[in-house]
Amino acid sequence: MSSERVIVVGGGLAGLMATIRAAEMGVTVDLFSIVPVKRSHSVCAQGGINGAVNTKGEGDSPDIHFDDTIYGGDFLADQPPVKAMCYAAPGIINLLDRMGVMFNRTPEGLLDFRRFGGTKFHRTAFAGATTGQQLLYALDEQVRRFEVEGLVDKHEMWEFLGLVRDGDGNCRGIVALDCVSMRIEAFPALAVMLATGGPGIVFGRSTNSVINTGTAAASAYQEGARYANGEFIQVHPTSIPASDKLRLMSESARGEGGRIWVPRSRGDKRAPKSIPESERWYFLEEKYPAYEKFVGEDPHEVPMKVFPGMHYSMGGLWVDYAANPSNGTLDEASPRNQATNVPGLYAAGEVDYLYHGANRLGANSLVACLYAGKIGGPAMVRYGRDSGGRLPPDDGAFAAAKKRWETEFARLARMSGPENPHRLAEEMGDWMTDNVTVIRHDGKLSETDVKLQELTEQWERIGLSDRSGFANREISFVNQLRNMLVLARVMTRGALLRQESRGAHFKVRDLEKGVTEENALPRDDVNFLKTTIAEHTPDGPRIAYAPVDTSLIPPRPRKY
Ligand SMILES: Cc1cc2nc3c(=O)[nH]c(=O)nc-3n(C[C@H](O)[C@H](O)[C@H](O)COP(=O)(O)OP(=O)(O)OC[C@H]3O[C@@H](n4cnc5c(N)ncnc54)[C@H](O)[C@@H]3O)c2cc1C
Repeated sequence: MSSERVIVVGGGLAGLMATIRAAEMGVTVDLFSIVPVKRSHSVCAQGGINGAVNTKGEGDSPDIHFDDTIYGGDFLADQPPVKAMCYAAPGIINLLDRMGVMFNRTPEGLLDFRRFGGTKFHRTAFAGATTGQQLLYALDEQVRRFEVEGLVDKHEMWEFLGLVRDGDGNCRGIVALDCVSMRIEAFPALAVMLATGGPGIVFGRSTNSVINTGTAAASAYQEGARYANGEFIQVHPTSIPASDKLRLMSESARGEGGRIWVPRSRGDKRAPKSIPESERWYFLEEKYPAYEKFVGEDPHEVPMKVFPGMHYSMGGLWVDYAANPSNGTLDEASPRNQATNVPGLYAAGEVDYLYHGANRLGANSLVACLYAGKIGGPAMVRYGRDSGGRLPPDDGAFAAAKKRWETEFARLARMSGPENPHRLAEEMGDWMTDNVTVIRHDGKLSETDVKLQELTEQWERIGLSDRSGFANREISFVNQLRNMLVLARVMTRGALLRQESRGAHFKVRDLEKGVTEENALPRDDVNFLKTTIAEHTPDGPRIAYAPVDTSLIPPRPRKY
């Protein structure tokens, strides 16, 4: 046990990797997770993890992976961190292999790689259809090793509520809620990392786990952390709709020959099998000609019903990096890596915005999470050691932050108005899914922004149905809902102000004219090759723009 302590909030792949790396430096890590870490959303990842290992001798390389990632992200990603990630990816896969991940192997016993999401190369390592689970369990084992050594203190079923900041604004700890006893406590640390995953539930139904509300990021945002590129939301074309949530049909199914079609004539009521080939529209293949390469029979007797579902957020907390101009990658020893603008607060994983630009390549997020955790863990330890140590636990800042949250939760517990929080959440999700996913239109985005403000007012009139003081998830949900409404406005306003189409953000002039090239605003590098930066104000998000580092690969038109 070391007297130096850091806090990692989140036990998904990013958080576990950051924990391992910090513990390796001899620092004790307080690891918080709202669910047992092995239930983190990373467990859902199916398809695999990218890295240009090139075992099949196809000529793949980290430079090509880098180019594919930048091009896929429509040039909106800062290039040095992406290059560094792509160069680190083969080593990360080998590290996972050494940790015991049961990756699929070739008959010769080499790691096997598959094609994913339309790539030219077999670049995706996979462990059956449960890659995320195998990776998470492997990292969990490593974390348990440090737990036994007294270098990790796990706080499972604890929910992060907010930051503790000292008089100079530095982040010196967190306030968290014990989800069982409902006790609220403040925890001191040299530095804090949020590895709290994505915000899918802002859209109601999503392929994300139901814990992925974005509440931690939204809370940090309201305490001064910047949120970047919030409007860039990836929609998965092959989610399987159900009343509770969307489940994913992996894109590896398409990578290996599965095809998707809709009837050419809208509203066609015939049974799918009776619609002849000539009247089927294989829209993905038309829009993304790369799919023509994948020859394959329709694998299903009855075509699957699919729905374009919110899947991934490219946007997230803004984080810094330290470029290494000598090789175009990063200075991985720098405490700047993964640092938010709040001194002492770090972010890694889907909660950060750094590695994907305007769209994410399939199987690139697992590697991004692991790389961010790998460099972010040491960065926060170095920051903590350089910044003069932690505040003593009896410092008034902790008592004040704890008191503030106790008062707030007591207020939430008394709410007795007519509004049902779950109905408000559903309405928010429907508006976001209808207007802030695939097709964006200024009129609809403005209406959504107004609607979100109305819902925020209605939130004040919520009535709780559960007032018990034991394992009360409704009080937490009401707090999370307020945070989701805040994030929803960041996404919506970012989309409204971005007058172009780029990556996953597709803006049309006239909603009635549908998705045609003429009706879509073109990419506008002069005005919008910029990172969107949102800052919280009491009147809603204030949006500014920051330049993108395109020093390594000059932007070119993106045509899929
Ligand atoms: C169905 C599906 C399949 C996918 N398949 C792939 C794939 O094949 N390849 C790929 O690269 N990517 C894939 N992705 C994306 C990828 O799984 C995620 O981006 C990634 O796992 C996120 O990891 P993370 O560590 O950032 O966060 P998560 O794994 O979401 O972990 C977040 C952690 O934060 C904790 N947490 C959250 N809020 C709080 C709070 N307030 N207080 C305390 N703790 C909190 C949670 O308990 C959890 O431990 C897929 C995504 C989905 C939805």
